[in-house]
Amino acid sequence: MSFDLAFHLLNKLEGDIALALSYQAEDVVVLHLLKERLTRPFEVFTLDTGRHFKESLDLHRQIETFFNLTIHRYTPDEHELRSLEADFADEWAMRASLQNRKRCCNVRKVRPLARALAGKTAWVTGLRAAQSVTRENIHVVEYDESFQCLKFNPLAHWSEDAVTDYMNAHSLPNNALYREGFRSIGCAPCTRAIAANEDIRAGRWWWENPEHKECGLHTRKSHG
Ligand code: SF4
Repeated sequence: MSFDLAFHLLNKLEGDIALALSYQAEDVVVLHLLKERLTRPFEVFTLDTGRHFKESLDLHRQIETFFNLTIHRYTPDEHELRSLEADFADEWAMRASLQNRKRCCNVRKVRPLARALAGKTAWVTGLRAAQSVTRENIHVVEYDESFQCLKFNPLAHWSEDAVTDYMNAHSLPNNALYREGFRSIGCAPCTRAIAANEDIRAGRWWWENPEHKECGLHTRKSHG
């Protein structure tokens, strides 16, 4: 499906739709596009993992002011979080195995996302195919079997430069971490700045192999 047709479909869909914000430039571009092109209401939410960078929390406030909206926060279950923090008081314990890291992502991201998407007809993301090997087959519109709703990735075929150009053309607020060498932004314990010659996602879960670098929010059970 084409980029333009995706927005047309979003306007026609019955039921609630929501944009997931993770404090990256792509999300800000998609939010601007939705505000420009949609004639219907939509929710904007973030997963409040408790591990975001200060710069990301600053961007949260800047986005709310710039777009005159409230970003809904979905937080981890308190009981699950206490158990997680008891087991992984030391960040290196969380990094000790893929299983441990995924347990943290499950508690702080995946389960809150399931609550955010419960009853929604569709969610919208800023994913791009060029971001990683785990995303190279994404489509502009997919059915997300994990969360049982439609998933719109309007920037699926955009380049990193196209995102930057759009941000600059519309003077949109951006995450200050990009000025410090970050090119993909997630939780602070799991994200670092990268060198110019490194892969765009090299700074995410840098201790893992590239094919593992997803948190469980964007599984490829989906199909186009
Ligand atoms: S990205 Fe890191 S800190 Fe954030 S939820 Fe996943 S493992 Fe936990």
